[in-house]
Amino acid sequence: MSCSPEDLNKRCLELAAKWQTCTQQGGIDSFVEFAVSVSSLTAFLESHGLSGLHQSAHSLEQKVLSLMDQLMDPSAGGTLPAGASALLGVQVQEFGARAQAFIQGHSSHLTERRHTPDTAPDAAPLSTLVPPKKIVFVTDTPVAWKDLVAQVGFFHVQVELVGTAHNLPSVPEPAMVLVDAAQRPLGAFVAQVQTLRGQFSASHIVGLNVGIDFESQQRALSAGCDACFATGAQYAAIMARIVKLCSNEEEAPYKVLVVEDSKTAGALIRRTLSEAGMDSLAITRPQDVLTALAAYQPDLVLMDMYMPGCTGVEVTRVIRQHAEFLSTPVVYLSGDSNVALQVDALRLGGDHFLTKPFNPVILNAVVKSKIDRYRTLRRTMLHDSLTGLLNHTTSKQQLQSAINAARLDGSGLCVAMVDIDHFKSVNDTYGHPMGDHVIRSMAWLLKQRVRKSDAVGRYGGEEFVVVLPGSTADQAHTVLDRIRGDFSRIRHPVDDGWFSSSFSGGIAQWNADLDSEALLKRADEALYRAKRAGRNQVQVLQPG
Ligand code: GH3
Ligand code: MG
Ligand code: MG
Ligand code: MG
Repeated sequence: MSCSPEDLNKRCLELAAKWQTCTQQGGIDSFVEFAVSVSSLTAFLESHGLSGLHQSAHSLEQKVLSLMDQLMDPSAGGTLPAGASALLGVQVQEFGARAQAFIQGHSSHLTERRHTPDTAPDAAPLSTLVPPKKIVFVTDTPVAWKDLVAQVGFFHVQVELVGTAHNLPSVPEPAMVLVDAAQRPLGAFVAQVQTLRGQFSASHIVGLNVGIDFESQQRALSAGCDACFATGAQYAAIMARIVKLCSNEEEAPYKVLVVEDSKTAGALIRRTLSEAGMDSLAITRPQDVLTALAAYQPDLVLMDMYMPGCTGVEVTRVIRQHAEFLSTPVVYLSGDSNVALQVDALRLGGDHFLTKPFNPVILNAVVKSKIDRYRTLRRTMLHDSLTGLLNHTTSKQQLQSAINAARLDGSGLCVAMVDIDHFKSVNDTYGHPMGDHVIRSMAWLLKQRVRKSDAVGRYGGEEFVVVLPGSTADQAHTVLDRIRGDFSRIRHPVDDGWFSSSFSGGIAQWNADLDSEALLKRADEALYRAKRAGRNQVQVLQPG
């Protein structure tokens, strides 16, 4: 949970105010405003991982959207039947009460979690700045999970084990609740998940050892599980879920470029997008589109169809001549519902067609889903599939941009090269899949322990690069050496026990004479010295 209680409270108050206006004024416009507000709150709760509240908001949203459909029907005369309105009022109140109870119950706890490594003045590792994430693990066979529990401890996650028959801790709300379905009737497991869902609005609930049959999975999910792992699920997959959920990464807001010659229409679109938490920039002159794309780097373009001097389709064709914007989604907005025109627009490089006047809920939903896909696609292009870290090419690009920035503002910069020790023998002794698991653990730990402004990439097989802008060699050494110590203590479970692994690291400090190749070469040289000096250590290459 990364939002502040104030943020959530503000959004709930907005929703209540919109509902009040709606009941006092009536009419389609105020109902649409209310619907947008419900929809945006639903998306907000989902994006902040408040699963329980999200489920309530989602059911409210479904109700509101179906009523909006009825209201838009010309035969309805622009009013809702009195009964429907009263029922909706009850649901709004119920949701409000639930949200308030949540906000009041968790205020201090939520505030406490807001410190991010970015606000730290130095390069201190995450572990000293934020309290550990808490997980409750409900199971009657803790021994079967001891390796998992021990391992997550290294990722700054604290596990509290509770038997299925025991009472659960009431506050603070854990980031995640794991519920073991092993050796219990499905009904008892499902009932417990329901109780947990009622108790923990924000927690991510994950079922373990859930049957692979349809009924078990469907009932577990409907009862409130966010995800289910079947019996025999890969240990690494469960670990990956825990680490991802407990990570402090927050997604940057979605950015939309609005190309619209009418200032009023542009302002209306931007308001709608901002209701859903999206950033936007509007331009009125189509000829400014390339400059705006380059400067603003949007995730999507909302394109008016008719503008003085050219059509939206023509603008899109120009955009598509530039390789870097080839995959940026373009959604048209047009007052013309002509099917032939729509087909043509889509053929010539567009991704979707919406007609004006637009339904704000649909507009936001279309824009968000297109951006989701676009970001997923970009992620696979820029990141390594095994670890989720930046891939080789992107790491080098990030280093180059960090050097450019350091040249501009005169700040320092360090680069670390990290390589797992005797990794070949891990593969040879425990097999390639276990080798992959060790690589992933290394990646998680690095990602978790550096600041948001640092870049971590998988440079090669078992070799990683970390770019630390604004750090001195000493600070970089402190961070890397602490990670080294923690990594060497991780116990990787194998059939007859466990093994541990270590890494060596080399750090080089940037100066204005060094380009990225020369800097990497120096970090590599430091790494080589660390290997030669006996491995499991971090060396700094002194300037000169
Ligand atoms: P040193 O301490 O000197 O670094 O020894 P090392 O054994 O780690 O070094 P070496 O470079 O000889 O071996 C690296 C091994 O990493 C060889 C390669 O098979 C393995 N490897 C590379 N990529 C992957 C991968 O994605 N998964 C797994 N499991 N192994 C990989
Ligand atoms: Mg126009
Ligand atoms: Mg190695
Ligand atoms: Mg190597």
